[in-house]
Amino acid sequence: MARKIGSRYTAHQILGRGSAGTVWLGDGPEGPVAIKLLREDLAADQDLVERFVQERSALLHLDHPRVVGVRDLVVDGNELALVMDLVRGTDLRTRLERDRRLAPEAAAAIAADVADGLAAAHAAGLVHRDVKPENVLLDALSLEGPGGAPPALLTDFGVAKLIDSPSRTRATSIIGTPDYLAPEIVEGLPPRAAVDIYALATVLYELLAGFTPFGGGHPGAVLRRHVTESVAPLPGIPDELWQLIHQCLAKAPASRLRAVELATRLRELLPSLEGLPPLDIDEHVEDGYEHDEADEGDGEGAAHGPATGAAQAAAGGGAVPLVHSRVGPDANRDTHTSMRVPAADELAGGAHGTARAPRPVGEARAGSARHHRVAERRRRLKIGVVAALVAAALAVGGWLATSEDDTGSLPAPAAGYSGD
Ligand code: ADP
Repeated sequence: MARKIGSRYTAHQILGRGSAGTVWLGDGPEGPVAIKLLREDLAADQDLVERFVQERSALLHLDHPRVVGVRDLVVDGNELALVMDLVRGTDLRTRLERDRRLAPEAAAAIAADVADGLAAAHAAGLVHRDVKPENVLLDALSLEGPGGAPPALLTDFGVAKLIDSPSRTRATSIIGTPDYLAPEIVEGLPPRAAVDIYALATVLYELLAGFTPFGGGHPGAVLRRHVTESVAPLPGIPDELWQLIHQCLAKAPASRLRAVELATRLRELLPSLEGLPPLDIDEHVEDGYEHDEADEGDGEGAAHGPATGAAQAAAGGGAVPLVHSRVGPDANRDTHTSMRVPAADELAGGAHGTARAPRPVGEARAGSARHHRVAERRRRLKIGVVAALVAAALAVGGWLATSEDDTGSLPAPAAGYSGD
């Protein structure tokens, strides 16, 4: 159904939904566009709308082939819309879900594109603050680049900053996607350009490994890992590529490369990565479920890399949850997380500085594919048990009703229903 956005644009169909709103395929005076309609609660926030309008010129002037251009900003009654260049293709998350891991050449080419976009933004004084695969669009209509990778464009500039406003979050809160958050943000420092480099290095690691270096489990545990854990090289990764990732995942922002350097170094590496297959991260099938080494209950497996030694040392200690939340494991990877910044002693952790909680043998690593399948199986079982109990309650109720010839109400099955 067509929908008018301001006086110049029409939205036709939904292209995707994100954490800040819904993206529509639309058209305007200059042809097809993508229109991001901000969530109602964001659009209703007067402070946010004002700042959005203030940011307008910075966003509109960021014109670079590796950045999804913002063409217009529409404030119309209770609606706030960002009109963007339309990119025909998918986002990087979708590609990653399909392929699980990319070949090093393609991964490095995509990361170099994103680094180019970041370099332009940083030069203009803009920090993205939410670099993640969901915000990288792959242009399927342009010629493929090195390793068959489609050209990549960074999108969603300015949105994280707007959502993360003092009026929306308390002074001690942070906003972002936990897997990609730089340690200095976790520690409460203002986000500078280096946070984007850290997030991009995390994305590059994920493209190669199929998982992020510090992700999995409770968001609080993820945050702590960013601050306290180090990453080990991925098995089989070309050394120079690893050195780049490692440097850009440095805890100290000043130790990371700048975007322009990262782009150059990645492109210099491309010829040496040509033809390499995706990394062979150890995986095998057990009981019909495929899972990775890290699922083996040893705290973290070698394939998962980070801080194996520290995790083993923690086997008797366990991780200390930092933040109590109703959010499930990895439930918010593609959303923004708002949470209390943990205090320094909490970050040090009760498990000698490691965030890896030892898992019982056979238990899946939170956030892993196997974990989700096991959780789904348990959920179905739970629903089955609840359904059986409800049926039994109805049967007993029916029996009572007939045996006592009573007109009273049946036992209320809803009371026992978990609403799962
Ligand atoms: P998120 O908030 O998770 O980053 P977005 O709201 O930016 O996600 O986008 C949601 C989805 O809409 C994307 O995954 C993508 O498929 C689609 N999309 C976003 N921007 C564009 C665009 N400029 N052109 C085409 N599709 C887009």
